[in-house]
Amino acid sequence: MQKKQHTNFPRIAVVGSTNMDMVVNAERIPVPGETILAHHFFMNPGGKGANQAVTVARLGGATLFISKVGNDVFGRQSSQLFHEEGIDTRFMLSDDILPSGVALITVDQKGENSIVVSQGANNALLPEDFTGAILKELEKCTMVLMQFEIPMETILHVARYAASKNIKVVINPAPVQTIPPQLLKYTHILTPNETEAELLTGIKVKNLDTAKKAAKAILEMGASVVIVTLGAQGALVCEQGKMTLVPTEAVQAVDTTAAGDVFNGALVVGLSNGMQLPEATRFACRAAAISVTREGAQSSIPYYNEVIAHFV
Ligand code: ATP
Repeated sequence: MQKKQHTNFPRIAVVGSTNMDMVVNAERIPVPGETILAHHFFMNPGGKGANQAVTVARLGGATLFISKVGNDVFGRQSSQLFHEEGIDTRFMLSDDILPSGVALITVDQKGENSIVVSQGANNALLPEDFTGAILKELEKCTMVLMQFEIPMETILHVARYAASKNIKVVINPAPVQTIPPQLLKYTHILTPNETEAELLTGIKVKNLDTAKKAAKAILEMGASVVIVTLGAQGALVCEQGKMTLVPTEAVQAVDTTAAGDVFNGALVVGLSNGMQLPEATRFACRAAAISVTREGAQSSIPYYNEVIAHFV
């Protein structure tokens, strides 16, 4: 494993999901009632929360990861792997009843997939888990990054608490669902992709113009900053009265899995390191562009030295 660059970045909290992805490669996806033999099977730690926490850690951030897994082999394996990444896993909680979150993925010969996710213990990360010791650790952080793979009541609770302590809240609204208006009040930056921007606003996002319209509509809902990620086009940064397109690098993409997670993790690292919004977005685009040139989710996440090389 490549050595991580240790820097003096402030502490960043990631609150979110941990899943174990279980992938089978088969000739085709079975029809209902059918059993077929797979060519290959492998397991990958995943979940948006976990991917974003690993990104923050590999980019040198002091990472506090708050998540809930089952009291099972997947939960223990994930915690161990994240600990080895240098992540503070003391508050990866374990649920005695529910199993760890898993994603069962079948990939056919054409690369099409079918995925069933069992959220398991991720659904049991609740507001009441955020007591004494966790809140104390959270207060040492300058930013908290969350996604939508844990209960909305928990996201709202953490965002409200963080905002009351002047901790900046960054929300990656994925997978998309209705956003409670109060959440936008506590959110510093919201980072939808094109599909999420479209589902949040009802505006079909098919080019830069429509992305700008959707971003404006999200700002009108109450968000202070919106960054719409636009795949190979980069990202549109929108603050009141100002919109800037930050282009990404032209690369040979081989697998875009987790590009959004790398973007979000790198964005909070850039901001925590004192970069202004457009520069932090450029840093995030660079990290995400590197990740799409590699296969897999966590296996594709770059390290700090790789991202700053050629970053001017
Ligand atoms: P995913 O669901 O695949 O994880 P996403 O849909 O959440 O990704 P995207 O908008 O597709 O998010 O990508 C996030 C960022 O990754 C983009 O803003 C861009 O910086 C970078 N990126 C994505 N695809 C490419 C590409 N083909 N070439 C270069 N950069 C890319």
